[in-house]
Amino acid sequence: MSKDILSLQKCHSYEQKQVDAAVRQLLEPFGGMSKLVKSGHKVLIKPNMLSCKDPDKAATTHPAVIEAVARLCTEAGAQVFIGDSPPSIFGRTEDFWNRTGFATAAANTGARLLCFENDDKQPLSFPSNGRQLTVYATRHCFDVDFVINLPKMKTHNLTRITGATKNLFGLLPGLAKAQWHKTFPRPVEFSNFIVDLAKQLPCHLTIMDGIEGMDGQGPSGGRVVKPGILLAATSPVTVDLGFCGVVGLNPAEIPMLNHCRELAWGPATLDQLQIVGTPLADARIADYRVPRLVPASFIPEWLLNFARKLAWAGPALLPNLCIKCGRCQKICPADAIEIGENGATFNKDRCISCFCCMEVCPVDAIEMRTSLLLGLIFKMRGLKRKLKKHNN
Ligand code: SF4
Ligand code: SF4
Repeated sequence: MSKDILSLQKCHSYEQKQVDAAVRQLLEPFGGMSKLVKSGHKVLIKPNMLSCKDPDKAATTHPAVIEAVARLCTEAGAQVFIGDSPPSIFGRTEDFWNRTGFATAAANTGARLLCFENDDKQPLSFPSNGRQLTVYATRHCFDVDFVINLPKMKTHNLTRITGATKNLFGLLPGLAKAQWHKTFPRPVEFSNFIVDLAKQLPCHLTIMDGIEGMDGQGPSGGRVVKPGILLAATSPVTVDLGFCGVVGLNPAEIPMLNHCRELAWGPATLDQLQIVGTPLADARIADYRVPRLVPASFIPEWLLNFARKLAWAGPALLPNLCIKCGRCQKICPADAIEIGENGATFNKDRCISCFCCMEVCPVDAIEMRTSLLLGLIFKMRGLKRKLKKHNN
């Protein structure tokens, strides 16, 4: 059986010419873009447009990568569309396009920007977590001939990483995304849902922007890191495995990748990949900080209600930063946020620790905090893992 190709390419700058050259080289193992995309094809590029932030905050796919990919598609004779639905589209979509640089990338390549929010949706029915679900995705991804997924290399407080598979969640328009957090509040169930959904969505090529990425309290307010790497594969699962390989994460500790393995969707380990371009050993980075799973992942449900107050991980307001915009309150699927004179306050009894509020806060005024007991549990789990590694 032939192995899935994972292409890696070092690139340390967002200078357009360097990114153009790196993306071209990255796609050579697949025969180049003109082998994948045909003249006359309609192509949808799906970057990560999580927040209305400047590209150097590393919360969104960098416009230089979008521009490089869009240029190769137009060179191949394709008609290119760029679209995403961020969770916090309370303002004008144009503001997001301008601030993230997506508008410039589109203008420089003749691509058309799409706003998923107002257009027709397509229902998708599929089983997940033992239930039959109906989900509404943008019709644009089904109207085109080819979908290119362009995720950013980032961590996530709930699912640990927000890589290639999770980036497809943005094909669901509007606030429905927050409601799915409420339907599946436990991280493992939510991760299963993301994978079950991604399997239903068209995705022909994934290119991850890891030139700069985010670690720590991602996907919006974490630390900017500079892995200097681009990853490409035809399967988003392959790219997520490559992400783990680059940052030194065990894929078995990522619930989304565990579910992919259970479903036999995509390769299960790095050994099953044919890695081309930059050798993985040269792409590896040290000290990439990944959030731990919140208690709902490892405390049984019957114990959770009892233990919630003692072993708690949730949002907390950073003093003096809140501008009282109310976005966190609007997105919260559990109705757990009030906006008072001193800014946002969080009702711990209602909070389901989904961290949607952190994602949408425009000024990074919310951080994840844990109770003392949970901090201790995390330390002990970390120590146990280190000991196990040492003994091996
Ligand atoms: S307060 Fe924040 S973390 Fe808690 S449920 Fe609401 S959006 Fe999610
Ligand atoms: S915490 Fe952030 S999102 Fe919530 S009201 Fe304050 S500034 Fe707005």
